[in-house]
Amino acid sequence: MTATSENVHAHEINKFGSLAERWWDRHGEFKTLHDINPLRIRFIRDYTDLDGKRIIDVGCGGGILSEGMAKFGADVTGIDLSEELIDIADLHGLETGVQVHYQKISAEAMAEQHPGELDIVTCMEMLEHVPDPAAIVAACATLVKPGGYVFFSTLNRKPKAYLLAIVAAEYLLQMLPKSTHDYKTFIKPSELSRWCREADLDMQGIVGIEYNPFTKSFRLGKDIDVNYIAAYQRPE
Ligand code: SAH
Repeated sequence: MTATSENVHAHEINKFGSLAERWWDRHGEFKTLHDINPLRIRFIRDYTDLDGKRIIDVGCGGGILSEGMAKFGADVTGIDLSEELIDIADLHGLETGVQVHYQKISAEAMAEQHPGELDIVTCMEMLEHVPDPAAIVAACATLVKPGGYVFFSTLNRKPKAYLLAIVAAEYLLQMLPKSTHDYKTFIKPSELSRWCREADLDMQGIVGIEYNPFTKSFRLGKDIDVNYIAAYQRPE
């Protein structure tokens, strides 16, 4: 095995893969990803147009974000290491007619094959599930063209995130399956920014993905203590 093929937790791939058939159930285990999808697409479009852009979506799962971006005219390749999820993503694309190319390959291997070729790279709700998130950040930075954008979203390692993203979301409100997240893998914005700086990406902006338990809805806002999304650009 090469060093790059080891940056994966088999239990994470199996956990997500075992729920593959539930991925597109709007009210199922992945409801949260469906709920936040329009917000993250809006965030991306605040920085860059999607029409005609070449995009790689790293850790695409069943393709919620990939399809959403393709609907705006982007040429999207979704990559993930779960065979089951790649199959479900392909199948869903056939059903909806939204064209996305899916491939089971690591971000690092993709970066070796296509350095500097992409207009946009997205990597959402994935970094907290890998052993070496900095290596994924570096791979995303390698993939993007000079002047291109990279977008990450993840969970902040703050006590408030433990309370809301684990205790409330997994146990009290049962918005997510139990054991979806592990607090110690959460990532502080300062850590993400450091990895991005080391990969020569310039930070453009960061916002929180806030949940209101009363209205049961998400919105983008200033509170980055729980879930956040950030934009980076590779210098020209
Ligand atoms: N990005 C998608 C799915 C997030 S769930 C969305 O936000 O809608 C996390 C995904 O990361 C799962 O599909 C899981 O299979 C994938 N994943 C976990 N480790 C990975 C790795 N090392 N390489 C690629 N994908 C990985």
